[in-house]
Amino acid sequence: MNRPAPKPLISLDEALARLLAQTPRLAGVETVDSFEALGRVLAEDLVAPLDVPGMDNSAMDGYALRRADLLGPEGLARALPVGQRVAAGHPGGPLAEGTAARLFTGAEIPPGADAVVPQEQAEALTLPDGRAAVRITVLPEPEAWIRRRGDDVRQGATVLATGTRLSAQALGLAASLGRATVQVRRRPRVALFSTGDELVMPGSLPPEQLPRGAIYNSNRHTLRGLLQAAGAEVTDLGIVPDRREATREALRAAAEAHDLILTSGGVSVGEEDHLKPAVEAEGRLDLWQVAMKPGKPLAFGAVRRPGAPGEARGAAAEALFMGLPGNPVSSFVTFLLAVRPVLRALEGEPVHAPRALQVPAAFDWPHPDRRREFLRARLDAAGQAHIYPKQSSAVLTSAVWAEGLIDVAAGQVIRAGDPVPYLPYAALL
Ligand code: AMP
Ligand code: MG
Repeated sequence: MNRPAPKPLISLDEALARLLAQTPRLAGVETVDSFEALGRVLAEDLVAPLDVPGMDNSAMDGYALRRADLLGPEGLARALPVGQRVAAGHPGGPLAEGTAARLFTGAEIPPGADAVVPQEQAEALTLPDGRAAVRITVLPEPEAWIRRRGDDVRQGATVLATGTRLSAQALGLAASLGRATVQVRRRPRVALFSTGDELVMPGSLPPEQLPRGAIYNSNRHTLRGLLQAAGAEVTDLGIVPDRREATREALRAAAEAHDLILTSGGVSVGEEDHLKPAVEAEGRLDLWQVAMKPGKPLAFGAVRRPGAPGEARGAAAEALFMGLPGNPVSSFVTFLLAVRPVLRALEGEPVHAPRALQVPAAFDWPHPDRRREFLRARLDAAGQAHIYPKQSSAVLTSAVWAEGLIDVAAGQVIRAGDPVPYLPYAALL
């Protein structure tokens, strides 16, 4: 009858603050080809070595001219001889007064021109002396269709700051500055384990041969995919054998070359489990009860690296350890809300609270939980949030159907039409 007193619940924000306080930023910077840097985190400020665009150029196919030439007594009736033809990449000369230049999108504006007229607002004609000319049908505004030098980026400007995760468009911007390589942070190395005697790997047994009580290991696929999507280097260590010594050995081996050891299962309160004592023996472990649903139990700690002295702390001496609950939706949600921020911090990306959209609920939630709850939800075309009818943490279908999570405060009753905070998966990944 010596059951330990239940641990007090801590809030998710408190858990996150504790996690991040103990997460070091990884040492080590790599120079990588900017062509291969998608999803990496910048370890330098990207400063523009030139103006982009590098010269005034045309936003249209049409004619460059001096507006003053159309403001005389003849007005738009005046035919302007076409003195030159300028294509992108083939600069022309200065624009002589009283003439127009035929030019194409991206072509350099001839010095002296102060507007571009799209070809749809111009009539090409031939003068009596045989020269090509143009008559303009609509007077252009000053600067019309001219993209000025430096309009996008000014030389010397910091275009992308250290800590920015590189999107495809950010890589395009880096390329527009001529960058062939970028300095980025090392990717976090993560070792992934599953625990649970009931788990069977897909492929090792067909469904009709599954023993009673056995289930397929699904978290391994989900968590590996989430880690990969987060840009981590994943070492998959399969299912931890259910023996203390083997688990300790696996932890020691994983701690040598990884920044984080991530496990699923075996962190429920009171559970007789080999993982907890093994982590405690190889390092340190805190088991938290987080006031969130799904995903209440969360283990956090560290495993000593081989050869590190017992009391040493920090990245040189320890690999971080995070143990997620085994229920498939719980491990999915706790990954998004707790592991993802840790990965960001490891990689040196600033960690912000994810930005929720306020959307109207298309559902009632009459019986709220005492814990903050994250409902699997998605928006309809009108922007209203619907929840999956089964919100059990064992129903993985809900996480697949959903496109985000509704963040329900503890004890909050929701009526259809109430505004609710919606976290799109994209804001969490
Ligand atoms: P646990 O957190 O180990 O108590 O597990 C909670 C529930 O999640 C149990 O029903 C387990 O069978 C299930 N579970 C644990 N690990 C996995 C896994 N890797 N894949 C699918 N289900 C799991
Ligand atoms: Mg288990």
